[in-house]
Amino acid sequence: MVGQDPGSRRPRQNGVTDHRPVGMIGRLFRHVRLRRLATTIHREHARDLPWPAADPRRNAFDWDDGEAARLTALIVPMVPSEADRAADPGEMSGWLFTARVTALLVSRFGRWACGWDHSNHFGGPVETWCCPSHSVGGAEETAARVVTCLLEWRGWLEDIAERFEQLAPHPDADAEDRSWHLERAVTRLVTVVVNSTHADGGWQRLCETTLTWFLTSTGLGPDEARKAVEAAIGGRFRSHVVPATTLVDTVGEDLAIGLTGRGFYRER
Ligand SMILES: [Zn+2]
Ligand SMILES: [Zn+2]
Repeated sequence: MVGQDPGSRRPRQNGVTDHRPVGMIGRLFRHVRLRRLATTIHREHARDLPWPAADPRRNAFDWDDGEAARLTALIVPMVPSEADRAADPGEMSGWLFTARVTALLVSRFGRWACGWDHSNHFGGPVETWCCPSHSVGGAEETAARVVTCLLEWRGWLEDIAERFEQLAPHPDADAEDRSWHLERAVTRLVTVVVNSTHADGGWQRLCETTLTWFLTSTGLGPDEARKAVEAAIGGRFRSHVVPATTLVDTVGEDLAIGLTGRGFYRER
């Protein structure tokens, strides 16, 4: 029933006339509309978070068995049925599900939780998720998987937050010492990201985000941090390619020199 399709109530875009399709054609068009609808659903992505929104030190996470049970009970009825998924070759029901789960997790725990499905497949550190077509199945099993992924993502954030503290230049460091600390931090953090993403497709974006977050955690403004990171990487990290040690060292050196103007602590 075309009239009941939420997509058909959306305002027309691009000046396209609304020919209301019927029958078989209508079903095909409805699918296209749902696809458009889904792309307009707002969902937050980890890479868009400023570090204060992702930082576990600033965002408490009250978790126990009771909360695990309550969350699972909320997710179970959200999982698309097998029939829904079978009738949906474009996996739209799965994408809508992940968008709605993200909204639920963010409203319950805070913005940091949006990274729960940032899987290896999309260059993220979460191992237990892949994509809707491989990760959405039976309701109970899928809800349990979401919970596992949320904890994995939280654990990853806690791990990098601890590293940020260990790697930060001390407050009274002079330019040269600061440069040494920054270069060391880049080398360590790039290695962490490569290991936790297996350098899968898009890992370099998480790498940029992580380095930007690190610099922000040391007091740099987010825009300045992002520009410094992009300039230092210079497009040299690529999907599915583990960067050579020499390249990682060079990026670390470029970032450190770019930010401190110093880098002669090492024999050249
Ligand atoms: Zn997959
Ligand atoms: Zn030092």
